Amino acid sequence: MNNNDLDQLRSEIDEINHQMLELLNKRGEIVKKIGIAKIDKGVKRFDPVRERKMLDYIADQNEGPYSTSTLQHIFKEIFKCSLELQEEDDKKVLLVSRKRKSENTIVEVNGVKIGDGSPIIIAGPCAVESYEQVDSVAKVLKEQGVKIMRGGAFKPRTSPYDFQGLGEEGLKILKEVGQNHGLAIISEIVSPEHIEMSLDYVDIIQIGARNMQNFELLKAAGSVNKPILLKRGLAATIEEFIYAAEYIMSKGNHEIILCERGIRTYEKATRNTLDITAVPILKQETHLPVLVDVTHSTGRRDLLIPAAKAGLAIGADGIMAEVHPDPATALSDSTQQMNFEQYEQFMSELNSFMKR
Ligand code: PEP
Ligand code: MN
Repeated sequence: MNNNDLDQLRSEIDEINHQMLELLNKRGEIVKKIGIAKIDKGVKRFDPVRERKMLDYIADQNEGPYSTSTLQHIFKEIFKCSLELQEEDDKKVLLVSRKRKSENTIVEVNGVKIGDGSPIIIAGPCAVESYEQVDSVAKVLKEQGVKIMRGGAFKPRTSPYDFQGLGEEGLKILKEVGQNHGLAIISEIVSPEHIEMSLDYVDIIQIGARNMQNFELLKAAGSVNKPILLKRGLAATIEEFIYAAEYIMSKGNHEIILCERGIRTYEKATRNTLDITAVPILKQETHLPVLVDVTHSTGRRDLLIPAAKAGLAIGADGIMAEVHPDPATALSDSTQQMNFEQYEQFMSELNSFMKR
């Protein structure tokens, strides 16, 4: 054999290497698609029966010069690498993602299904101020057929000199009033060490906007068996919001409700800017129920009804709003809470809107 022949054969090998490289990567792309399909269907990545069939096919078709066992060894390596490729993708698919679970998560509290397609209303005062105050709100909610009452016992206030809430005493009031009127209770918890304590008092734990990235709080909330309502951070992107929910779910708690409550922008006409399209985006990207808090997003009583209608029209699973017996004397958010008359108007407008 002369040098020319050797060069010629080597260039044939180079060409085959090139083709094999292309084919392997083409195979890899298909493997990745299969991986996503497996996640969708919820089937296991490793399928020994399928591997055995492919190895048998190789044995059947092999015409040499390589021995069947050599070729099967090479293919087994390819199968192993393919599995690793699918694992990498699987890790990137979050637990809260629709890619992982295509059907809606429905959170059931007090016989109310949140996320089943029929929207719910959560209402109540910004803060628990007294037994009488919460009791009078509860009566109105009951009349309106609302089954979940909100009320802050731990209030994360901008100024340390503002009313900070009644703490555990406030949770006791909520529980007692809730039991008397058959209402489920949702209240915000601000520190991880209060999560366990709150389990005795509340039906849903709220994690507020200011704590959306308090990762220790998220992990503590993820470790208990209680639905969590997670509010979007003041300046959080949708991606950061989704990752915050993932923190909770990664600890084992799958009962999560998301709440769009407006984000901070340059616009001053409203307290925050209600990011209305966050609702369908969150519904597409995750399988979790999504609520809209019209009180903290708009910060304006005159915008509560149109904002709530917009939320429902765009696909929210419910609306949260604040109501107080005498907003002018409220210890927090006095300019944006509704009085009873305004609240009744709010409910009647929303009820007829939902019936349409
Ligand atoms: C609240 O709902 O009581 C509250 C403080 O809201 P946010 O965390 O959205 O500001
Ligand atoms: Mn408030």
